Amino acid sequence: MNIPNLQTPIVYLKGVGPNRAETLQSELGIHTYQDLLNLFPNRYLDKTQYYKIGQLQRSNADVQIAGKIVNIKTVEQKRGKRLVATFVDDTGDMELVWFRGQKWIRENLKLNTAYVIFGRCNWFNGKFSMPHPDMELLTEHQKGLKVGMQPIYPSTEKLSNKGITNRVVSKMMQQLFLETKARFSEPLSDNILQELHLLPKAESLLNIHFPKNQELLAKAQFRLKFEELFFIQLQLLTKKALRQQKIKGLPFDQVGEYFKEFYDHHLPFELTGAQKRVIKEIRHDLGSNAQMNRLLQGDVGSGKTIVGVMTMLLAIDNGYQACLMAPTEILANQHYSGIKELLDKVGLHCALLTGSTKKSERTVIHSNLENGSLHILVGTHALLEDKVQFQNLGLAIIDEQHRFGVAQRAKLWHKGGTPQNTDNETSAGSLPPHILVMTATPIPRTLAMSLYGDLDISVIDELPPGRKPVKTVHRFDSNRLKVFGFVRDEIKKGRQVYVVYPLIQESEALDYKDLMDGYESIARDFPMPNYQISIVHGQMKPADKDYEMDRFVRGETQIMVATTVIEVGVNVPNASVMIIESAERFGLSQLHQLRGRVGRGADQSYCILMTGHKLSEESKTRLHTMTQTNDGFEIAEVDLKLRGPGDIMGTQQSGVLNLKIADIVKDNDILKTARHYAIQILKADPRLEKPENLPIRHAYSQIVKHKNIWNYIS
Ligand code: ADP
Ligand code: MG
Repeated sequence: MNIPNLQTPIVYLKGVGPNRAETLQSELGIHTYQDLLNLFPNRYLDKTQYYKIGQLQRSNADVQIAGKIVNIKTVEQKRGKRLVATFVDDTGDMELVWFRGQKWIRENLKLNTAYVIFGRCNWFNGKFSMPHPDMELLTEHQKGLKVGMQPIYPSTEKLSNKGITNRVVSKMMQQLFLETKARFSEPLSDNILQELHLLPKAESLLNIHFPKNQELLAKAQFRLKFEELFFIQLQLLTKKALRQQKIKGLPFDQVGEYFKEFYDHHLPFELTGAQKRVIKEIRHDLGSNAQMNRLLQGDVGSGKTIVGVMTMLLAIDNGYQACLMAPTEILANQHYSGIKELLDKVGLHCALLTGSTKKSERTVIHSNLENGSLHILVGTHALLEDKVQFQNLGLAIIDEQHRFGVAQRAKLWHKGGTPQNTDNETSAGSLPPHILVMTATPIPRTLAMSLYGDLDISVIDELPPGRKPVKTVHRFDSNRLKVFGFVRDEIKKGRQVYVVYPLIQESEALDYKDLMDGYESIARDFPMPNYQISIVHGQMKPADKDYEMDRFVRGETQIMVATTVIEVGVNVPNASVMIIESAERFGLSQLHQLRGRVGRGADQSYCILMTGHKLSEESKTRLHTMTQTNDGFEIAEVDLKLRGPGDIMGTQQSGVLNLKIADIVKDNDILKTARHYAIQILKADPRLEKPENLPIRHAYSQIVKHKNIWNYIS
């Protein structure tokens, strides 16, 4: 028999067939043997113990019991049918219950036949019951591969409905090992394996799927995590090297008149040390002949904008145009008016382009960009439209980057004006603009490294002097009257107030109702005409949103009731109170972002976190953290520990890395080791040509389909 290779379509695995293959593909993205092999268990259950029904405790634990089914019946209920079987051993009886896949179970279960069942036991109506147990005939169970621990694979409702239970997946895995004779090639070099005492690949795969004991499982996990992170780092470093060595940049070698004039005479305040340092880093990039790709991180209110403005001046001093792209119209508007005010002083021309820019204005902007009389363009996604072409774009700044995708970043590359060869960004003669990405999302450094390994990072870690830290308190809903009294006092002093409600997809309708109920109750407590209230939420048309937001920005309304749409960047220095309703439902970094909306003026500002009395431990930690610190990075660290990177950054980030086994937060140490090795190896052998590195090169080239990449590395 031919030994199937790992690229063999999964349909050929014995026991799979077309139907199951289709389900595996659609539900788990498994197309080949390789994909199945890389389906790693989420967790493991220790099945070395057998329990008796008579010994069961009301602990909700997962247990394994041997016994048989003596009868099975369908029970009709208001809320639907369920299938209930009575399961007995020599010490008592219990129930097995199925809500899904009843037909399949009914047809396949055998009465009065010995089974081993496994699952979580509930205590229900004076009896133990196990919903959707894993079941195996005792005879099969005894034949099966003797494992100390049972792997639990990722599953979906559809999979279990189609009978692809965990047991079936385990069986497939066994079959795969049989058919391939477990001949899996080794992608790491002997050096690495020896130095780090790593298990070989084949042995790791065996132990990840069929662990013999805890110790081998741990070793297998370590090895596979290392491998995964190592190849990611290799890619990031290669990209970075590629960029630095081959992507030439526009040489901005002089600091000219505009910059000097602005710096000497029009800077509205003394720069903080951190701002100065970052500007230096940027100047170094711009003068280095390579394209700048820099991420500027700085907590809300740390003063990123002025850094952006001064970078623009450098571009203009060197004869180029600059643009700044913001994620919303409101933000673009704010940037535009702020930047215009500053740049008017040095006589530079600046325009605003958004979705609502009138056609006639647009035409003027387009031609002024092309003839070079417009120095700076500020705007939204509208900047990305094909019609927008610069005479010579030298710098693109992207604000609040997490709202923009990588594709959009790339699009800016081709707005240049300088000779472009769009087929190949890296060929000589095509000089893309320098890119500066600004974000207030605090990303701990190690995480930033793996997410943005191809960007250089600058950090503004210092707030402008004289800021009063926002005072943050946690209040229960039962104290609402007092909170409203406080709000009234603040409004009397001329301040403005945000009231923010959560809105998450799953319970959208409910959240929307909460918001509207909240709005009505606020409107009752703060009646017109003494009080004016704005409301902004996701179901409004963008134009209406902007209108309401504008009223608040201009101070025509005192209270802004909103969902998290206001989260990013809005600057209303007169707002001094941020009330966050159902604060327990927000993530930490979101809470921190929201809090950043206040505390932008000279006055003391407040953030009030409202919740009910019932709070999980995790919610308590979040609320406590918020009341204890204003430091975005500290908050990000706690957030990472609580939730992991996927949640923090929004799902797109976890999608970027698409990790199968490693967790950048929990496996931070492995990540560092992997990065260290990747750096060392590329340093000694940049093209991975040494014999000992050939396995790495081979595996790498399979990962990066883009094989040409090696040609660019000198
Ligand atoms: P963010 O980093 O959140 O984008 P901004 O650039 O909007 O912050 O700056 C927040 C506020 O702080 C602005 O009103 C800005 O004028 C002010 N600011 C920035 N840098 C300084 C500084 N060095 N000294 C005093 N105020 C500053
Ligand atoms: Mg900003």
